[in-house]
Parts: sequence; C-alpha cells; structure tokens
Amino acid sequence: WRDVEFLAAQLSVETERPEARDLPLIAVCGRPNVGKSTLFNRLTGSRRSIVGDEPGITRDRIYGEVEWFGRDARIVDTGGVIPDDEALIPSEIFRQAQVALEEADSIIMVVDGRTELASPDLELARLLLRGGKPVFLAVNKMDTDALLPQAENFRRLGFRNVFPISAEHNGGIGDLMDEVFESLPEPKTHEEEADPDFEETPTEVMMTEEDEEEEDSDGAWIAPPPLTEDQVRDRIEAEQQAAREAYVEPEAPVEVKRPRLLRSHGEHELKETKVAIIGRPNVGKSTLLNALTGTDRAIVSPIAGTTRDAVDEVVERGGHSFRFVDTAGIRRKGKTKLMAEKLSVIMARKHLEAADVSLLIIDATEGVAALDANIGGYAHESGRSVIIVVNKWDLMTKVGKDGMRLWDGKPPVDPKIYEQDVRDALKYLDYAPLLFISALDGKGVDQVFKKVELVSRERRKRVTTGQMNKFLEKVDFQKASVPMNRRVRIYYMTQAAVAPPTFILFTDKDVKMHFSFERFLANQIRDHFGFIGSPIWFKIKARNKK
Ligand code: GDP
Ligand code: GDP
Repeated sequence: WRDVEFLAAQLSVETERPEARDLPLIAVCGRPNVGKSTLFNRLTGSRRSIVGDEPGITRDRIYGEVEWFGRDARIVDTGGVIPDDEALIPSEIFRQAQVALEEADSIIMVVDGRTELASPDLELARLLLRGGKPVFLAVNKMDTDALLPQAENFRRLGFRNVFPISAEHNGGIGDLMDEVFESLPEPKTHEEEADPDFEETPTEVMMTEEDEEEEDSDGAWIAPPPLTEDQVRDRIEAEQQAAREAYVEPEAPVEVKRPRLLRSHGEHELKETKVAIIGRPNVGKSTLLNALTGTDRAIVSPIAGTTRDAVDEVVERGGHSFRFVDTAGIRRKGKTKLMAEKLSVIMARKHLEAADVSLLIIDATEGVAALDANIGGYAHESGRSVIIVVNKWDLMTKVGKDGMRLWDGKPPVDPKIYEQDVRDALKYLDYAPLLFISALDGKGVDQVFKKVELVSRERRKRVTTGQMNKFLEKVDFQKASVPMNRRVRIYYMTQAAVAPPTFILFTDKDVKMHFSFERFLANQIRDHFGFIGSPIWFKIKARNKK
C-alpha cells in the first residue's frame, strides 16, 4: 500500500496541469517532521505528499495547487530526500533554499513550535531571508491557545512575518495564507488593503528575474551570489563551533587595543567600514544584523574574520562596503542571564577591536541600564566612532484608541525628551549621533547605513595645521573652566592622525590636561570641523619640562 501511495504521489507530479505552470509558486521549506507535508496536504486538499516519513523515501519536490479566495497558486513541498536520522544535512538545507529561491514567488518556512531552534533552522532562515523574496515563518504545532506565546521565541530567526499555526488542526492558516497571497505577483481579485508600510518593507519587495537584470545594469542592485554547498557547510560548522564555545568564559578579560592610527589622507580612499554591533542581551542585536544583512538589496558574503571562528558579513550599498564583524558572535547567546550579560561585555570589547564604527544598541522599552553605560564606555575609550541606536521604537510609538501605548498602556513619550534622557545617561558619548529604529519592522534601518557611512568619513577627516592655527586664534580659552594651576598655554596644534582624529598640542607646561579643558577644546573643534560620531584624542608636547 505504501508503494502505491508513493507512486501516486510521484504521478501527481507528472500529471500536473500544464496551465498550472503559469501560476505563482509558493514554496514550503523546513526541517524534517516540522509538518510541511501536513500543511501542504491541508492547503492542496489532496494527498499528494506522504505524511510521516519512512527512511529512504524520496519525495523530491511535490507540487500541488491551492486556491484562496478566488485566486490560484501552485505550491511546492521542498522537503525531499531525507536521511534516516533527524539531522538536516547542510546540502539538504542548501537544496531546499535553492529550490525555493530559484523557483518560488513566495516562501513559507515551517518550524516545529514545540522544539528548540537548531542551527539548521537558523541557517535555512538566513539563506531564505537574504534571497530578497517574501518569506513567512509558520510556527507549527501550536495546537492550543496556551501555546501561542511560544511562537514569539521564533522571532529570533529574524522574520518579520511570524504566524503560529496548527497544520493538523487547521489553526492560524487563514492569516498566513492571506499574507502569502498578498505577496504573490498577480492582479488582485479583491481590493488590497491600504497598508502604508507594505511598499517599503524590504522582505516584501517583489523581484522577478527581469527586474534583477534591469537593476543589475544600472548597478542599483545585484542578486546575492549563490553560496556553494561547502560554504554553507563551513558556516554551519562555524555556527555550531560558536554555539559550543558560547558558554565558556575566557579566563582573562579581553583588552581593547587602541586602533592603529592612520597617517594617510584617507578621506576619499575609504571603501569599507568595519561595523561592530554591541549591546547587552536582548536589545535586538541579532535582529538588527538580520535586517542589515538579510533582506537588503545588496551583496552579502561571508568572509573569514580575524579570529578562527569569526565570520564577517559584507553588505555593499551605493559603492560602499559595510563589513559587520564577527556575525557569529553577535548571535551568540549566554545560557543564563548573568552569563549572557558577561558575554555581551566580552563580545563588545572583542568586536570593538575589529571595528571602525560601533552601533551601541539600546532597548527603547528599558532605557539606558548600567550595563549599557558600561559597554558604551568601552566604545568611547576604544577610539571607535559610535552611533547610539535606540531599538524597539515601534513599542514606544504604537498607541491604541485611547492614545496610550499598546505594550504598557502608558502615554507615549516625546522623542526629544527620550533622547535627552539617553544623553544624560551616556554623557561621554555626546558626539554620537542617535537613531530611533525598529529592527523588527525594518524601520530606520536605512538610516543606520547612512549614519555609518557618515561617521566613517568623519573619523578620517584631516585638518591642516594652517586651518588649525587659524581656528586656535579664535578660541576664547577664558570660557574653559579650568583651575589656574592646570592652565596651559597652547602655542600651536596639529592633527597627527585620523581614525580617531588625534591632535598634538604644543604647550608651555608638561601637565596632564584637565578633564573639562579637554572637553572644552574637543567641543570647539567639533563646532568648527565636525568629526561627527568620533571621539577626539589629544596628546601634549611641552616646550619646557615644568
Ligand atoms: P514534514 O517532514 O515536515 O513534512 O512533517 P510531516 O507533515 O510529515 O509531520 C511530521 C509529524 O508532525 C507528523 O506526525 C504530523 O502528524 C505531526 N504534525 C504536523 N502538524 C502538526 C500540528 O499542527 N500539530 C501537531 N501536534 N502535530 C503535527
Ligand atoms: P540580542 O540578544 O541583542 O541579539 O537580541 P535579539 O535580536 O535576539 O532580540 C531580542 C528580542 O527582542 C527578540 O524577541 C526580538 O524579536 C525582539 N526585538 C528585536 N528588535 C525589535 C524591535 O525593533 N521591536 C520589537 N518590538 N522587538 C524587537
């Protein structure tokens, strides 16, 4: 009987209606046993694929048809040759993703909501998310309402569209299909609901092959290069290695080395900016990383980082490369809260060392915590440029009918007042631009790229000694509140280095500059020359030793 069923399944592939080939295609991807076939059968209404895998059964690409409110689509179950154990081998992930990305117009990734996320899930999610096609996450086996909150755990995968479903009990499938059909390329038979966000969401941008070619020619967007199986395997191994090492606390604290000072006139040479995403656990670092690398119209390619298990990802945009350092590390999580917090500090220091620019992520719903200030302090001292990114701003702005915020029922806050609170808590980062974003919705993510490019340019700016001395003449040093015995006379000043901009002051006395004097001078320099986002360093050279 099983053989008959198997043959029937194969036959239905062969006997697919020829007209069906013109229909838009939905692909269903996921690990074995998550319920792909069950979902597929529920949608197609016929048994075209076999539920309950037997070892060795081949069911490569089963096609069916699905109708939804008068619209038709084809659907393909990408679950194919499955080895006898539970593991999804890298080539299998790769194959599924490839089928989906090459053939489908819209993709549903299915996970089992009752099991833990595993690295193959992460890998598949990332391959799918960066493909530039609409992707939807179906968290399956959510058979009762009590289980629904569990689906939220899967947001970690980086999908904007998450749907708890029960394929077996027909739960939640309507919402999923509404969205999936909405994303399909075909004249709509029913009126599209006005959704102002719909157009701008990168995951929802429809790209046909012609579009890709067209965009290619004017350089605006190039399709992500396909990864080889070996690359996928390497990355999974790196991910697993990272996971293994995640909970080991290094014996000695990691030292942040000062950056090598650049002596070149680098302002126009810069092609690549190395970016560190830092912050305490759960502020949204991984989500932001996904938004920056996953769904953007850009080349994303993994590159071996500086340390053995580090993987960097490079995004090309408008002729500029953004290299996100140690992306495996950004996704690394500690097991316990304390461990996760310690790990976040160690990671921040390690990542800063490899970067030019850091994104200090703050959770908008929590404000600046002691640990944020701690991590921000390392960023400041490291000499890297800093952008303060206030994430989860969606939660602060979405209000209900009563005008109160949905997530906590409190009145919404003025962003200016909010920013002031953040700045008061992170005083030493007064030079850092501040952005409000929602990594989850992809809002403001574009701004992140723009600001990174800006601060990256600013930190490499060079002021000539002539300009500097003209500026010095105008500075009213009487305004600096500095104790008399700490006052120094500056004869002249020169920029010795860029990245970060470093100035040598030639003075009359060999005394350490007073804190408020240094601050005063830095602010004066900023008013004149910018250096947005970068700390400014000073060195003193005295003419007379005391
Ligand atoms: P596939 O390997 O991803 O195609 O998974 P299947 O569709 O073969 O399902 C694997 C197992 O999960 C089967 O035993 C299904 O009966 C079960 N299953 C599928 N959907 C659900 C669901 O919504 N709830 C529960 N409890 N079990 C499900
Ligand atoms: P990480 O530990 O800093 O890498 O944080 P994650 O990226 O894992 O995010 C932690 C949690 O915050 C996850 O549940 C995310 O879905 C959620 N999250 C991240 N960014 C946003 C956002 O912009 N808005 C909302 N509402 N939630 C977010």
